[in-house]
Amino acid sequence: MTDEIAVSVTNLVKKYKNVEVLNGISLQVYKGEVFGLIGPNGAGKTTTLRAISGILKKYEGDISIFGYTPEEAKKLGYISYMPEDAFPYEKLSGIENLEVFAQIYARGDKELEKEFLELGVKIADLGNKIYEQTSIYSRGMKRRLMIARALMVKPRLAILDEPTTGLDVESTVRVRRIIRELPRSINTTILFSSHNMLEVDFMCDRIALINKGKIVEIGMPKQIAEKYNSKNLEEAFL
Ligand code: ATP
Repeated sequence: MTDEIAVSVTNLVKKYKNVEVLNGISLQVYKGEVFGLIGPNGAGKTTTLRAISGILKKYEGDISIFGYTPEEAKKLGYISYMPEDAFPYEKLSGIENLEVFAQIYARGDKELEKEFLELGVKIADLGNKIYEQTSIYSRGMKRRLMIARALMVKPRLAILDEPTTGLDVESTVRVRRIIRELPRSINTTILFSSHNMLEVDFMCDRIALINKGKIVEIGMPKQIAEKYNSKNLEEAFL
């Protein structure tokens, strides 16, 4: 982690038909950080991530990704975004799914394409199943493939919306470990959302707690727990 700012969000406001779903979100994510956005259903996590990733275009406030607007950063290939409902193409095998993405991001550089693909296969860690059609994959296997797809291109910023929600125990453990351990080796900053206090305590350098479209707390998990006189985050907020 460095002092360089990867993501800067200032006073983000989003309204749907005059109802404010985000009312003034401000946060900064440092380069190399694993940053968790945690909050209950409907808190505004997905909307915040969609704005940062350049998908949601109409909002008030400022967002800067390494000094660029989200749309510019997206065009430059700096951002890799995995939506909550990301699914592979079911008619293709796991490896073919990765190949499609590797080709797009390598922009004609065959060596780079190969490098992306090798990393993708390693991250997904699906053994020989990587050659099988993804329609036979379990939910956890599909998710691991989608996370591999997002990270194998070594994006400057990876945005993952609820990467562990709804997974079996084995895939949950694997995905948590990937997010905790991989970013340093590929020079990536990770911003992800979660419902789970225990996992963000384990995975994140810093977290932002969001509720009803507002940031409630921001800081290192340990510091926040200490502020509430607790051993861990879960205890602090239960
Ligand atoms: P979850 O954990 O359930 O995914 P979340 O924290 O990601 O929740 P958002 O999906 O960002 O929350 O939703 C925040 C609020 O905005 C919710 O009240 C939701 O109903 C509302 N909302 C989101 N998208 C739209 C939309 N396209 N039109 C109207 N309201 C929306």
